[in-house]
Amino acid sequence: MSTTNSTGSAQFDSLGLKRVINGRSWVTMLGGSRMPAEVQQAMVDAADTFIDFNELNRRAGERLARYTGAEAGLVVAGASTGLLVQAAACMAGQDPDRILQLPDTTGMKDEILIYEKHRFGFEICYRTAGAKLREWGKGEGTLAEQLAAAINEKTAAVTYVFGPPFTCDLSLREVVAVAHEQDVPVIVDGAAMLPPADNLTAYIADGADLVTFSGGKGVRGPQSTGILAGRADLVEAARLNMSPHASVGRACKVAKEEIAGLLAALDRFVSMDHEEEWATWRSWSETIVAAGDDIAGVRPVIEDGESNRQGPTAAFYFDEGWDGPSAVEIQEKLASGDPSIHVGVGNDVGELHVSPVALEPGEAEIVAQALRTELGR
Ligand SMILES: *Cc1c(COP(=O)(O)O)cnc(C)c1O
Repeated sequence: MSTTNSTGSAQFDSLGLKRVINGRSWVTMLGGSRMPAEVQQAMVDAADTFIDFNELNRRAGERLARYTGAEAGLVVAGASTGLLVQAAACMAGQDPDRILQLPDTTGMKDEILIYEKHRFGFEICYRTAGAKLREWGKGEGTLAEQLAAAINEKTAAVTYVFGPPFTCDLSLREVVAVAHEQDVPVIVDGAAMLPPADNLTAYIADGADLVTFSGGKGVRGPQSTGILAGRADLVEAARLNMSPHASVGRACKVAKEEIAGLLAALDRFVSMDHEEEWATWRSWSETIVAAGDDIAGVRPVIEDGESNRQGPTAAFYFDEGWDGPSAVEIQEKLASGDPSIHVGVGNDVGELHVSPVALEPGEAEIVAQALRTELGR
């Protein structure tokens, strides 16, 4: 990265784009994550070659299976495609006629049960495949009883969603026990749950039939990749319901260089020192929260508890003692600067937070300086 306000990309500069400092974590809206050098190199090396694509898909899948402890794996076009082909696999399976028929689900089991506190925007990916979402968890009896009663002859799968905003008093393992009792597969969205690296194997170990993760968030592979892993018959069905096969997932293409990039990113991810990375993130957050020290009405804290899987976050809480601009005003001011600094605001009006995970050396100081200015220091 240059010391000027160049984006670092001649193409992006020629389009007149501003350099962004990403304090929002690995979000698609800002370009995902940074691909480490070995990931970039793996993509470059793969870009000028031909291979048998189906063979590549199979062999790459075997690598994913090894890393996840699952029977089989498949590189998909983002966790969003993971969700789409989870649904397609559970409805159409490997049946050629059904694969061509989707998203018309006539004659198939086509309902996915979703816990009421797991409702989320990415559900649309299940619906794209033709599935209907049916909510459970607001009735009488224990949650296990409610789930058991919600399963019927239309149920194609039960979904379980992981992420900071999603909770369920039944663990994945307990949901799996109830669903498997009635021979219904459990599909998991763990898109943003890497790191910690343990999660690569945790959901499969808990009995999930299919799990998906983003390749372009904490794994730092290409933004357009994702990981699908699980039962061999369902992964094979997912493969047949996705590009390059004529299917509901034909538009979800993963290119050979993206597959190479994801594998390089995963090789790095499983062997790297995560504690050292966490310590670096924490030191950047310490630099950032120091901007709020000794200011009346501002409480700066580092949040790095178990619930915060995306690194130790620098947070600022504003109370009645604060007479400066609101968190949203500060957020807008920082974003309109050059470089443009993107930070988050909480659901709570008086909360501003900066994630260190997508920063690079030197950027925490720039963020802290800009924050000091906005906080009137
Ligand atoms: C990011 C995310 C997705 C989508 O993942 P992509 O890899 O961007 O397609 C799906 N579900 C959850 C919970 C996410 O956080």
